[in-house]
Amino acid sequence: DAPLLDVRNLHTHFFTKAGTVKAVDGVDFSIKPGETLGIVGESGSGKSITAMSILGLIPSPPGKIVDGEIYFKGENLLDKKEKQLRKIRGKEISMVFQDPMTSLNPVFSVEKQMVETIRAHENFSKKQARERALELLDLVGIPDPAKRIANYPHEFSGGMRQRIMIAIALSCSPSLLIADEPTTALDVTIQAQILELFSRMQRELNMAIIMITHDLGVVSEVCDRVMVMYAGKPAEFARTTNLFDHGKHPYTLGLMNSIPKITPEKQKLQAIDGVPPDLHALPKGCSFAPRCKHAMENCLSIDPVLKEMDDNHHVRCLLYDDSKEAIST
Ligand code: SF4
Ligand code: MG
Repeated sequence: DAPLLDVRNLHTHFFTKAGTVKAVDGVDFSIKPGETLGIVGESGSGKSITAMSILGLIPSPPGKIVDGEIYFKGENLLDKKEKQLRKIRGKEISMVFQDPMTSLNPVFSVEKQMVETIRAHENFSKKQARERALELLDLVGIPDPAKRIANYPHEFSGGMRQRIMIAIALSCSPSLLIADEPTTALDVTIQAQILELFSRMQRELNMAIIMITHDLGVVSEVCDRVMVMYAGKPAEFARTTNLFDHGKHPYTLGLMNSIPKITPEKQKLQAIDGVPPDLHALPKGCSFAPRCKHAMENCLSIDPVLKEMDDNHHVRCLLYDDSKEAIST
């Protein structure tokens, strides 16, 4: 199966007064039609910058994709002009962000926004576009769409607004949907419903999804594979079941411990010790070392490489690297 998206050796840097920030510093992954890939990490790990790089939305300056290729349906997006990219965004690749209020226009009805979006990409009459909008609102679970479509964004709850954003993102039947923290602002019940909606869309539309989140709980619900990022690089990459059953990187294990447990006595969220790294001043060696319970002397001088353990399970950690391949920095 040819991959839908194939990201190779991506490096996206920001050139600031305080120095160069290597926000994404060597990321490789591919995704097939109908597959859901999770990209997990704390803020500053490079997960959103990876998504923005794919979408061609890196503000430049100060940002720049300094190396790598992003193949979408076999064509390198980095060779495309902004005009061509604009056609691909919203038509072939759609996105959903955390806060629907910043993406929905408060002064226009849902109907107007949806009809205009649909007509911007499809040669539809207003009537046809409205029909399509009603179908989509029904698909994402808005009750009584024919009545609600005339409403304004503020007349919907947060969960309903997020559903509307998803309906808009789906309006051109994209083959890839990039969702950046799509449920972070929602309460747990609504979050579960939205995640169920993503799973259903993936099944029914055979759409690929990149789910960007800081929450491994979200990943376990919807993702086939997951890349855990730390300081701009993948720390671990595995099938979701492998990651949960046999997670290896100390950072991954820390994230797993921070998933709230259902049992009452363990409900307290156990955060990972330490703060995310300052990307202006990464330590020598492994960037996770200052927070790692297992750090050894070598970790302070050797930057581990991503190694395949077994069965497409990759880990970047000296605990699992007995070769001499590790690059000394
Ligand atoms: Fe921890 Fe060392 Fe592994 Fe880095 S390389 S995660 S510091 S054990
Ligand atoms: Mg982010």
